[in-house]
Amino acid sequence: MEKSWNPPPYGWQGNTHTTQPPPTAPPSYSQAVGGVGPSSPYTPQYPPSAGPQIVTTVVPVGPHPTHMICPSCHAEIDTVTQTKPGLIAYVSGTVICLVGCVFGCCLIPCCIDSCMDVHHKCANCGAYLGRYRR
Ligand SMILES: [Zn+2]
Repeated sequence: MEKSWNPPPYGWQGNTHTTQPPPTAPPSYSQAVGGVGPSSPYTPQYPPSAGPQIVTTVVPVGPHPTHMICPSCHAEIDTVTQTKPGLIAYVSGTVICLVGCVFGCCLIPCCIDSCMDVHHKCANCGAYLGRYRR
């Protein structure tokens, strides 16, 4: 007669001490009293930043003096125009010369008004503002 069953290892200890875990977060005093929560009834609305923008840098695009504000000196000026032969004038003159200059008119494009570029400069500080290409 052998008792072949082993007793359970000596480890089965019952909970002798009912150890409660310490309270992690006691109710805070500010929550209990009532601090300012994250969701306040009054939420200020910021207007979207898509308001009208004041653009001061305006490139003159006309053949005539343009009334504008100089982006360089910020003065209200009328641009000073200066007509110079544009790229079309030079190309046309070169082409006419290459063709043969039959009529001797290779300089005509430089005199045609529609081939001239209009350069705008500031009347106050002389800054180069833009060019109008016809
Ligand atoms: Zn200027």
